[in-house]
Amino acid sequence: MSNPKSAFIITSSPNKPTQKKRKGNENDADQTEQKSSTPKSSSPLALRKLSYSDSTSTISNEDELFSPRRFSLSDSDTDITLGVNYDEKVMQKEEDYEEDIYDFSYSQLLDIEYEDDDEFNPFDFIAHLPPKPKISPHQYCLPPKELSQPDITLVLDLDETLVHCSTEPIPDPDFTFTVLFHGVEYTVYVRKRPYFVEFLEAVSKIFEVVVFTASQSVYADKLLSILDPERKYIKYRVFRNSCIDVERNYLKDLEVLGRDLSKTCIVDNSPQAYGYQIDNGIPILSWFDDKEDRELMKLIPFLKQLYKHSDVRTIIRKKFHLREILDNYKKH
Ligand SMILES: [Mg+2]
Repeated sequence: MSNPKSAFIITSSPNKPTQKKRKGNENDADQTEQKSSTPKSSSPLALRKLSYSDSTSTISNEDELFSPRRFSLSDSDTDITLGVNYDEKVMQKEEDYEEDIYDFSYSQLLDIEYEDDDEFNPFDFIAHLPPKPKISPHQYCLPPKELSQPDITLVLDLDETLVHCSTEPIPDPDFTFTVLFHGVEYTVYVRKRPYFVEFLEAVSKIFEVVVFTASQSVYADKLLSILDPERKYIKYRVFRNSCIDVERNYLKDLEVLGRDLSKTCIVDNSPQAYGYQIDNGIPILSWFDDKEDRELMKLIPFLKQLYKHSDVRTIIRKKFHLREILDNYKKH
């Protein structure tokens, strides 16, 4: 379960098939099962069950500890051009990235062609989501924002955005810890994404930082208590039980945070996670083990630009063009 079952890659070559299976799929049987429930454009989700996730329901194995990993953005293959092309010099400090622009663009996703119609397509999924459930203030999962906190709330995904964890041994983990889940003790192997600390140090100075994960709190809360024991960087932690379960896709309705959505953004490697608030979503490539990865640091200059607008959605919409992509899928 340490790798996704499939992943998207994006190439700079128009019309080139861009969806490929990740190397080393060790759970093909599981993949077959997941594919069978994959929504398609011809079967709108409006008639399907939509509910807030109940973290106590029907959990059978350790995979359930983590966020689903089958649908995410990945550069697992080599023909990808995303982000800034840096030269070989090692850039250790945030300042080194100041002049660069996070050039991940959803417009590149328009070039995606799918090898297999059964593959999950997050944009098709988002385009056919049922209406979002209404949220009442009493459902907010965070206390009101403190006056001392920065204006903008930065919501961060955890798995494959900030860390990669596995209950199967992985080479060179940064650390391990144990989790007791359904009566079984699991050892969790943890890798931190490169520049994890530098990124959190930078963003926690200018944002109210919230981690919103589709993983189980029994795992994620313990992990975050190791990563940020004094809550120096991450003010709040929100778990799967605050997600909306749509066909076992755990969507993160930002409204449940009780924050002004014009002042809230989310960074997540799975686009469908912010399917109900696409104008608030900032994509990032999935991370598993690339020690040369710099995506977190590349992101900082873009995040700082959010303060130049009264509504963060304006700049995010302009940058990633997700609405245009979804319009394409809604036609089918
Ligand atoms: Mg994730």
